[in-house]
Amino acid sequence: MSKPKLHWFDDWYLIEAFGSGLYGIGEPKYHQINWNYLVVGSERALLFDTGPGLRDIAPVVASLTDRPVTVLLSHLHYDHTGNFHRFPETALVDLPMLRACEKDGLLHAPEEMFLGSYEDMTWVPHIIKRWWPIGHRIDLGGRGLEIIATPGHSPESISLFDRERRVLLAADFLYLGNLYAQTPGASLPDYLASAETLTGQLPADMLILGAHGEEGTDESPKLTRHDLVDLKAALTAIRDHDMPPASQNPDRYVINDRLALLAGPQSYGPWRAYKGG
Ligand SMILES: [Zn+2]
Repeated sequence: MSKPKLHWFDDWYLIEAFGSGLYGIGEPKYHQINWNYLVVGSERALLFDTGPGLRDIAPVVASLTDRPVTVLLSHLHYDHTGNFHRFPETALVDLPMLRACEKDGLLHAPEEMFLGSYEDMTWVPHIIKRWWPIGHRIDLGGRGLEIIATPGHSPESISLFDRERRVLLAADFLYLGNLYAQTPGASLPDYLASAETLTGQLPADMLILGAHGEEGTDESPKLTRHDLVDLKAALTAIRDHDMPPASQNPDRYVINDRLALLAGPQSYGPWRAYKGG
């Protein structure tokens, strides 16, 4: 892939064009520095996540493609789902816990999956047009994206893999900085299982794009298989009591010089006895 090109859409959204129909749509002025991704095929386009919704993202998407756009969410946290209701064509991964959120034809995200109270955000109930199973290949015309289950950060989290171009859109499973596994629903055993699956299945030279950028750079967060391997090694060491946290409350584990992992008492699941409270 050629070197990505950055340009501001307005004073909020930053577009990173990777070439061959892949775009990052960043929000560097939002304190969580969210990155959403648009993949454009010859017939259709897919928007993976919609940001916190502080600004309308639809005009940004419309500026990049005239193909019909389907929006797919990586998970339901408020900082990825804010503009979801602005798009008529929607999809979610077909998991029982997400199906259970559907009432009267609309998806209602419960607070424990949305976490909107963190920043005073309100879920807007919205229709789900397609339920895609794990392993489904989304055909956009001339390019496809595979849905991979990557629970850990949250139980419903998914990533998308473009096998031909060797790009993994990892959402909140893997990005630069502190990985959040201290939030409700996070699980370190799930995180490790997902890391093992990805390292076992995906090629060595893949580019991994995450959903949160870093302070001090306007670029999207770019990671490699080395980061994934380091994450897997750290989680294995945490499980085996071979790695103490660098700090506590929440527990913070240093994975490498650009990655750390946060964990709360309930994140350990069966790895540690949790006494409640
Ligand atoms: Zn999240």
